Amino acid sequence: MSQALKPRARSIGERIFLIFFFPIVIGFYLIYKYPTWFVPETEVAQTFYWFGKSTGFWYNTVYTALVCFISGQAVLKGTTPYGLNKKKPISGYQKKKFTSIFFSQFILFYFVPYLLPVLIGHKPFFGDTYSPVNKNAYVYVYNGFTSAGGFAYIFVLVPLAVWFFGKRYCSWFCACGNLSETIGITSWGNRWVTDRTPRGETAKKFEILQYGFLAFAIVFGFVLFLNAYKIIVAPDLELAFRSAQDLVIDLMFGALIGIGAYPFLGSRIWCRYGCPLAAGMRLYGKYAKSRFQVIANDDCKGLNLCTTQCPMGIDVASYAHKDKVPIKGHFGLQNSPCIGCGGCIDICPVQALSFQEILNHSDSTGPGAAPESRHA
Ligand code: SF4
Ligand code: SF4
Ligand code: SF4
Repeated sequence: MSQALKPRARSIGERIFLIFFFPIVIGFYLIYKYPTWFVPETEVAQTFYWFGKSTGFWYNTVYTALVCFISGQAVLKGTTPYGLNKKKPISGYQKKKFTSIFFSQFILFYFVPYLLPVLIGHKPFFGDTYSPVNKNAYVYVYNGFTSAGGFAYIFVLVPLAVWFFGKRYCSWFCACGNLSETIGITSWGNRWVTDRTPRGETAKKFEILQYGFLAFAIVFGFVLFLNAYKIIVAPDLELAFRSAQDLVIDLMFGALIGIGAYPFLGSRIWCRYGCPLAAGMRLYGKYAKSRFQVIANDDCKGLNLCTTQCPMGIDVASYAHKDKVPIKGHFGLQNSPCIGCGGCIDICPVQALSFQEILNHSDSTGPGAAPESRHA
């Protein structure tokens, strides 16, 4: 329904940035994950560590500083980060979202893994010894097969959160999503989202790729489980899966494309086409009939701004109007990968969109039903 936008020209500053951006991303990730490709293991710390701290520490320090600075600024500024009307006050929803991003990033993804062990272990802060990166991120799902905590997290907590809140995990909490969400409200980042996010039917069809990543994660998880409990011991198979996971999924898709493609394909390529946990959340949401919905009322004027703001490429406007006539439609996880970021709702100048009330027992999900706005 809405027409694809022609990407606007990049500024000189952005073009200069792009010349360095992708090579830096590639170089950094290779050193971070595979330093022994460049120097022997005994020389990694003295070659690549800075002030005695590992590349992982510095990466997470810069990452957290960026996320916390942008999210903190969004809350303190008090004006909406979406749309051209820079004087419009920030909504209560966005305030809570960016506050959640700030604290989840700082406390759970930085303070707990990097600072707390030093504080409670009374260890010196500087002088990390080299240990190979073992990135056990929950978004890769296979961890759910090797520990009770991982199982509870991936197969109990996340599905419950999806049932209550939709995929807001992705826009309020996840470490990967925290970067996407905050970069998406910077001036360049917002243009990357509006102008470069793949949209349309073909882009939508490719979302099926994500189920392939989930299938791989589940098979890998089973292999790990069988090996861990010595039901079938196949170390070569485990090694083959781990190499594919580390090199192809984590490095190439999760990092190089996931972050390196921000300026070219928007900030949520990995979240839309790669992340296995997101594929699982979509299935939970669809089959457990999560009540999460975005609904349109009859104030829609057919301006299509909502579609341009969606980092997940959803044609939001097609649920709100047909040829500028309001249709009061709705969508949720049954038919979209919506992460509940609220960008489409905030940018709409006539408040034609809202989230459905959580645990609202009256059925307001059908087209033509009166939506109840919970959006401040
Ligand atoms: S899609 Fe995956 S990586 Fe992206 S925010 Fe959600 S859980 Fe995190
Ligand atoms: S919902 Fe709002 S932004 Fe979207 S098409 Fe309607 S008026 Fe425009
Ligand atoms: S549809 Fe709206 S709330 Fe959902 S991901 Fe897109 S912009 Fe965010």
